[in-house]
Amino acid sequence: MSLSVTYSRAQLGVDAPLVTVETHLANGLPAFHIVGLPEAAVRESRDRVRSALINSHFEFPQRRITVNLAPADLPKEGGRYDLAIAIGILAASGQIPCEPLQNYEFIGELALTGALREVSGALPAAIACGAAGRRQVLPRDSGAEAALADGEIRTAESLLQVCAELHGRESLPAAERQPASNEIPCADLADVRGQLKARRALEVAAAGGHNLLFYGPPGTGKTMLASRLPGILPPLTQGELIEVAAVYSSAGLADLRRRPFRAPHHSASPTALVGGGSNPKPGEISLAHRGVLFLDEMPEFPRHALEILREPLENGEVRISRARAQVTYPADFQLVGAMNPCPCGYLGEARCRCTPDQIDRYRNKLSGPLLDRIDMQVEVASMSAGQLQDAPAGESSAAVCERVRLARDIQLARQNKINAQLQGRELDGVCALGNAEQQLLRQSVEQLGLSARSYHRVLKVARTLADLAGEENIGAGQIAEAIAYRNLDRKSAQPA
Ligand SMILES: [Zn+2]
Repeated sequence: MSLSVTYSRAQLGVDAPLVTVETHLANGLPAFHIVGLPEAAVRESRDRVRSALINSHFEFPQRRITVNLAPADLPKEGGRYDLAIAIGILAASGQIPCEPLQNYEFIGELALTGALREVSGALPAAIACGAAGRRQVLPRDSGAEAALADGEIRTAESLLQVCAELHGRESLPAAERQPASNEIPCADLADVRGQLKARRALEVAAAGGHNLLFYGPPGTGKTMLASRLPGILPPLTQGELIEVAAVYSSAGLADLRRRPFRAPHHSASPTALVGGGSNPKPGEISLAHRGVLFLDEMPEFPRHALEILREPLENGEVRISRARAQVTYPADFQLVGAMNPCPCGYLGEARCRCTPDQIDRYRNKLSGPLLDRIDMQVEVASMSAGQLQDAPAGESSAAVCERVRLARDIQLARQNKINAQLQGRELDGVCALGNAEQQLLRQSVEQLGLSARSYHRVLKVARTLADLAGEENIGAGQIAEAIAYRNLDRKSAQPA
């Protein structure tokens, strides 16, 4: 038989579409062609495959070799097809049996020695392979991340080892799952002294999944507070763990096993923020999937970079269009922003020389539609050295996390989602207000000039406050507290 078919997987966002590798040996002048729109990296694989075969003491066929990677219109990159191509050549030249190949998928880059090198995106490939009912063979170093998927996942160190399995002489070891106990603990809320208002806001944001903006002078602990949010969120479920691992796998980064916390600098490019590039990679917003995206000094981010956050904030994913394909990455993150009250940061103190014009321009860098997507805007006031010293140590993250868990359980039992995800009619259904509460909300919205969207944000936060208190109905106090979290919407108001 001078024709063989092997299977591999491409990497397209967090998807792994099937790639069929057809190998044909024909008579004629010895030559080795790879077709199917491969990029430069795939052409290079020709040289690696040839050397790996020879150094593994196989015969490199002195015939006209044509390898076709199908479908042709799928963008392909990296050396991930090396192993499938090498196996295809060996099968087409009768050096290994063809029959078992239909039950296998191969990914792995070959070293010139025939050893197998790690590839990115091993987990999405393993998930797709398992769904197709085939056995996945991949490099040993990619095994740990791929092992999160269900299905038969085998790892190998070299081309020779893979061939021994296909001959039935030796069985490849199954990929081993890492124990889930290697969680790195997040910094603890007990380290944050004082700042009771901000701590309360952080707890409310965690309980309902609300986006949050901290504003206040530099050095008040905005970053310290934000970085402790993942530690008071409930642990990832197995399904969420796999989603997060798939994003990190496609980025070629080590798996996390906990809720991510990403804090890109304001000088980060829009591509670094949302993802993209000629070989699309997930951006910071996707690396923060199921976790927290912290944007410190938010108005310093380029306006267009902030504006592209609006879509993922609304639907939890980001679509990146490339010349040949559209890639979708999950981006369901909780946003925590931080900003100073004015360009210099010390509004209200003698040293502040900012004019009202400068302050307006600074704040207007956050557009209305973006601010509308942030449920809570919370002031973090500066504390004197004395106040800081007298403040008692804060409650621990574990204690806060327990209340957050209880409040989330109430939400999931009632509506099968957290409050931040409630939309239109659902919201009206679970946030029915009494007459007095309704009147309070209407009046406040009118007086403060809040938008319709921001009206709904207030309702959602009030719902979370009631859930934290274990109350079925939203009370006037909870409406008032939720309205207090929309401070920046009042154009004329200056933070105290
Ligand atoms: Zn100032």
